[in-house]
Amino acid sequence: MAASIIDGKTISTTIRKSVTRDTAEFVVQTGITPHLAAVLIGDDPASQVYVRNKERACEACGLKSTLHRLPADTTQAQLAELVAKLNADASVHGILVQLPLPIHLDPTPILDAILPGKDVDGFHPENVGLMLQGRPRFLPCTPHGVMKMLQYENIQTAGKHVVVIGRSDIVGKPMAALLVQRGADATVTICHSRTADIGAITRQADILIAAVGIPEFVKGDMIKPGAVVIDVGINRVNDKLVGDVDFAAASKIAAAITPVPGGVGPMTITMLLQNTLEAARQAQ
Ligand code: NAP
Repeated sequence: MAASIIDGKTISTTIRKSVTRDTAEFVVQTGITPHLAAVLIGDDPASQVYVRNKERACEACGLKSTLHRLPADTTQAQLAELVAKLNADASVHGILVQLPLPIHLDPTPILDAILPGKDVDGFHPENVGLMLQGRPRFLPCTPHGVMKMLQYENIQTAGKHVVVIGRSDIVGKPMAALLVQRGADATVTICHSRTADIGAITRQADILIAAVGIPEFVKGDMIKPGAVVIDVGINRVNDKLVGDVDFAAASKIAAAITPVPGGVGPMTITMLLQNTLEAARQAQ
């Protein structure tokens, strides 16, 4: 039987309606509009699209967004100066530095410099620590979006074996961290580029989450029949967006699967909107 499609767009639309309503209430109560400042360095086409989508989503939900564009040859000191300025600006509630940065810039000191209370991406070490301890300030948007999708689809994680492929700081590691929290209660295995016989592990997954960055890395024979497959990957192949999962093969084996595009991507942006509203609330 063909897998059911986990429609990230529809789930996002539902959540964004409540963000819009909550934002309008917040504006009425405080006279303050939650404000996201996005920083885009250079002219990477994919990053430009992501930032534009985030700006549009903010506007559609009644949040303010401002874009700070810096040229590709921006220095580390110039970027740090902009972050310091946004930190000091009380009208800015959330700061987003679009990754990846041009190769000559080191993202770590920049992300560390964002005030934890404005770190709506949830990348600051203080926020990562709070998340690990199960008392989050902001959850990182992509893993949080995946958790929300599972919730909306009534897919239980408790007692399930979840295999996450990828151990990046922005997707794989926080994804695993959220799944092992009390309440989520999954048993989690993390795979990466040094994992031996990855297929033998992924075939044990009740829920398989792919965050690899390699188009169609997960083949049909790597999936347990009836598993839930979450494809975080966004890869551009010949001007087409392709996930990390071979969708055609996987959808014949899995019970449920996220498409690319229209799966995890819209959820990530939705969680960013929620975090920006939350940052504005916490600033009061
Ligand atoms: P990343 O930082 O490049 O991490 C990729 C991970 O995959 C690494 O941990 C790497 O292992 C692992 N990997 C690479 N080759 C492998 C292999 N042959 N076998 C097993 N593991 C392998 O990427 P990322 O930032 O996590 O992003 C992953 C994907 O998600 C990308 O396609 C990205 O565009 C997409 N993404 C989507 C969203 C969204 O909103 N949907 C958000 C963020 C990212 P090592 O650690 O050993 O190198």
